[in-house]
Amino acid sequence: MTNLICIGCPRGCHLQVDEENGYAVSGNRCPIGAKYGKEELTNPTRTLTTTVRLEGGLHEMLPVRTDKPLPKGKLMEAMQLINQVKVKAPVKMHQVIIENILDTGVNIISSKEM
Ligand code: SF4
Repeated sequence: MTNLICIGCPRGCHLQVDEENGYAVSGNRCPIGAKYGKEELTNPTRTLTTTVRLEGGLHEMLPVRTDKPLPKGKLMEAMQLINQVKVKAPVKMHQVIIENILDTGVNIISSKEM
């Protein structure tokens, strides 16, 4: 049995995940917690939000994020790639900045028009 705190909303439910019983989740107040508890033990992922360097814009940094959650084990490697990127203004909202990062099927997209 593994204890987790759900990050799905500010209530922070205390979850118990039973690995020996099909990753059955208890302690959740909604289905989001059940999904989170199971995935956290079988295939943990995170949405990554960060910035990249912007050239020719009013600001020097452009906020970016993943368009879907990235496997947790790929976060550091993804950040190393993202830190090497420079983008030229103008940039549209949700414009793809890095396509299919690390062959994960996840894109890095802009979070803002700049
Ligand atoms: S289980 Fe549902 S109610 Fe509880 S913290 Fe997660 S998202 Fe919020």
